[in-house]
Amino acid sequence: MCTGQSGSKQYMDLGPQEYPIPAIIISGKYPGKTVLVTAQIHSGEYPATSAVSRAAKQLDPSAVHGKVIFLPCVNMSGFRRETDAFVPEDGGNLNRDYPGDGSGTTAEIARYFIGELFPQADFVLDLHSGGIPEKLTPCVFVPYRMEKELMPVLQVLDIPHAVRSHNCHGEAGYAANMLGIPSLLLERGYGGLCMQEWIDAYMADILAVLGSLGIVRAPDRTVCKKTYYTEAVYPEAQEEGLWFPCICEDTYIRKGETIGHTEDIYGNLLRTYTAEADGLVLYYRTALHVSKGTPIAAYALLSSAFSMTDHERLRK
Ligand SMILES: [Zn+2]
Repeated sequence: MCTGQSGSKQYMDLGPQEYPIPAIIISGKYPGKTVLVTAQIHSGEYPATSAVSRAAKQLDPSAVHGKVIFLPCVNMSGFRRETDAFVPEDGGNLNRDYPGDGSGTTAEIARYFIGELFPQADFVLDLHSGGIPEKLTPCVFVPYRMEKELMPVLQVLDIPHAVRSHNCHGEAGYAANMLGIPSLLLERGYGGLCMQEWIDAYMADILAVLGSLGIVRAPDRTVCKKTYYTEAVYPEAQEEGLWFPCICEDTYIRKGETIGHTEDIYGNLLRTYTAEADGLVLYYRTALHVSKGTPIAAYALLSSAFSMTDHERLRK
């Protein structure tokens, strides 16, 4: 258990044996909920790491109700080795390999979260970014099982796109939800960059979520209107090749529109990829090389309540 004297801020390592994960634990002076805030579950997703450590630094425990467990960098070994997303020890994915039935570092970390961290939490805020070879649209993924509980928290976020998540195995959020704990997964930034505006936006998100849960005083601010999407589609490369995307983040695509194409190393066309439905581009791969089975893009499908006319108006 992460126990600390009320009104204290502790810097320590958590995590399974032989895999220390840096943590800042704020034990508020007053009783309240416990929130787990995680960043860099996928290594190479940098802006949230700075935002989490800065938010933890800024919070005054004497003004906090409840507890916040901040983990600025979960995948520490991947961060040190500058890998993209995966845990380098075994190539595992901390947002795919729950509940961690097998052996290896990834499974051990997953089991630690399920056994030690999630049971303490009333809410999980998991902060991501586009990977090093990606560009991304800021968005929030909302597990459909907990939409009702999550709506008040969702409302305080200044993120324009909310995508219903149909997690049903493997994801950290799904593992938390299965324990009855609501979770949100946010995405800001991309490309292995750590822009100040993304750090600032993430800091504001963290404080707004903590405010909505009664942990800190809710910041006074206005937020953008949100568009809700029913699900996301993740087309994958059907063959190894050179990948040439022709879409842009934060824009809408129509059914049948070209997403990009692959060529072989000699410049011969291998395949053209098209959108299966109208949707918002959430992210797309920017690396020239692509392996068979690698996601080349993701787009969110429009809810039926949102007409194409609205999308045309928003289209860049
Ligand atoms: Zn991620």
